[in-house]
Amino acid sequence: MSFRLKTVLGIALIELTVMGILIGINQFALGGSAADQLYQRAEATARVFANAVSDAVIATDLATLDATIETALSTEELSYLRVRNPTGLVLSEGGDALALAAEFAADASFDTARNDHRIDLDVPITVEGLDYGRIEMGLSTASVEREIAMALAWNLAVAFIGMSLVAIFGYVLGSYLTHQLHWLREGARGFAAGDLDRKIRVRGTDELAETAQCFNDMANSLAQDRATLAEQRNQLLAKKARVEVIVNCMTMISRGEDEISVPDTDRDDEIGSMARATVIFQESMRATEEAQQEQKRLVTAFDQIAEQVVVFDETGHAIFLNAAFRRFNRDILAELPHSFTQKEFLRMGYHLGAFPGVSGDPEDWIEAQLARENMAPEEIRRAPDRVTLTVQTYVDGIGVVLTAKDVTELRISEQQLIQASKMATLGEMATGIAHELNQPLGVIRMASSNCVKRIQKGIVDPDYLMGKLQRMGEQTERASQIINHMRVFGRKAVGVMEPFDLREALLETATLARTQLKTLDISLKVAVPETPAYVMGERVIFEQVLLNLVSNARDAIEEHGDGGPGEIRFEADFDGPDGHAVHVYDSGGGIPETVLDKLFEPFFTTKEPGKGTGLGLSISFGTIRDMSGRISARNVEGGACFTITLPDVGAAVSEAS
Ligand code: ADP
Repeated sequence: MSFRLKTVLGIALIELTVMGILIGINQFALGGSAADQLYQRAEATARVFANAVSDAVIATDLATLDATIETALSTEELSYLRVRNPTGLVLSEGGDALALAAEFAADASFDTARNDHRIDLDVPITVEGLDYGRIEMGLSTASVEREIAMALAWNLAVAFIGMSLVAIFGYVLGSYLTHQLHWLREGARGFAAGDLDRKIRVRGTDELAETAQCFNDMANSLAQDRATLAEQRNQLLAKKARVEVIVNCMTMISRGEDEISVPDTDRDDEIGSMARATVIFQESMRATEEAQQEQKRLVTAFDQIAEQVVVFDETGHAIFLNAAFRRFNRDILAELPHSFTQKEFLRMGYHLGAFPGVSGDPEDWIEAQLARENMAPEEIRRAPDRVTLTVQTYVDGIGVVLTAKDVTELRISEQQLIQASKMATLGEMATGIAHELNQPLGVIRMASSNCVKRIQKGIVDPDYLMGKLQRMGEQTERASQIINHMRVFGRKAVGVMEPFDLREALLETATLARTQLKTLDISLKVAVPETPAYVMGERVIFEQVLLNLVSNARDAIEEHGDGGPGEIRFEADFDGPDGHAVHVYDSGGGIPETVLDKLFEPFFTTKEPGKGTGLGLSISFGTIRDMSGRISARNVEGGACFTITLPDVGAAVSEAS
């Protein structure tokens, strides 16, 4: 339904409603008053007639009655008249025969009278209060009804004309409005189709004109925006083309192509920034490539060294293994996934029996290994019969770098050297030992010859013989102790660490060393606490360290001494903050300051060729390190002092072992 039709129908509906109400009110008011007037007039006419005929009724003058009725009926409105006496007898009547024939029924109101288009009413004929009959009268309502019908016709005609005018005006108004709307619609369609140059006709100053103006303004603004957008689009397209060139350069750079010249680096817009960033990217790609080459070279170098190298990241995962590590741990790695942690490596190694030296709870050992960062190097026994010296270092930002060196051959040759050195010591001690053994042997010889002489003389004194025999037994015991100790000392190291009492080792080494010093004017004093002190290691090798220190002290005293008696002193402080400390003092004049920091280097010696090997202190250093201890040297008044500190293993551990 069009807007125009809706306008016309809407206005017509309003008009119809208003007209209907007006006509209803008009008809009601008009019809009511006309009917009332007619009714009142009928009553008045009946009363006048009753008065007029009262005398004739009293006199029963029927002729007069008839003449009066006839006269009265000349009025067009009266339909009939009838006069009755008090008994109801008709004295005279006249008018419409049909009305007279019908039975009389008085109408109470105009509405009942409308049924037969006649007002039927009766009035009494009374004179001075006496009833002389009554008048029945019929008055036609045709004139009133005609009037009402006429009024209705006029009302309807006015309503029709009004509605027609309203319809015409509505149509004209609708046409006017829809005409403007038509232009608006056409304009909007044009805008929607992209024709922003189109202008909507603006007529007048009403809301539609304002709306049309708004549309025009909107189209103007859109046209401007479109022009701006088109311009920006062109700029973007131009930039896109430059960006594509730079992206192309980036692609070629990332493919590793050389000699790429990046354009537009001098521009001061985003393209310029991008171009300059691309140049930085090119440089960093070059740097990355160089770093990769460098990394490859490093990996190759790491792969070529004999030492095993493995790097674990901050989370404990292995991020680099060199070839030596992979070779040595082939069996363990074969059982591990591609990515593994140091803990998993140690656990799998233990499970496969690769760490035969581990005693006690393996988890404790693994935790101890993981916590070993930046601590002293440690020798680890590896199956079947290898020894690796491992160093674990924590590097900030990388993780744990673990290196392991196969020192099996080195340790074998060290042990051979120790053995050779011991044999040399034994050789050096031979004179002293011979002297030492000669004493008990001399005593035994003397005692036995005295006994023989006595028996030959026939003097058998059991107490005397018993005393001599006991003496011989004691001396034999002493000789066997010396031989026993030498046998122990001559034993080969077996590489098994176990707890031993430091105090006992010091006392027995002192006894042995004294035999060596016997022939020289050098005394060996011992000042150690009375309590035992347990350390972990191979006692025989530790004693060799002490003997080596004694030998060096002896050499220093012999070389630098003033000819007077020399002195060597064993002192010990047990249970100090660093564990148990052993000090070996001598009066040999001390160590030259210039060589103090070279003492423990292998093959460093100040002794003449053939006498010194320069290995004694370096081997001692390794031995003490293996016992998780430290050895150091310093000068004291009149000589040197070597200090060994070893961690305590506690009496409980030692007893358990
Ligand atoms: P060697 O005894 O075969 O020379 P060492 O390693 O035992 O080898 O000793 C290295 C050097 O340390 C010796 O040559 C000596 O110069 C010096 N040295 C060792 N102990 C002492 C000491 N008690 N007094 C002075 N110098 C010493």
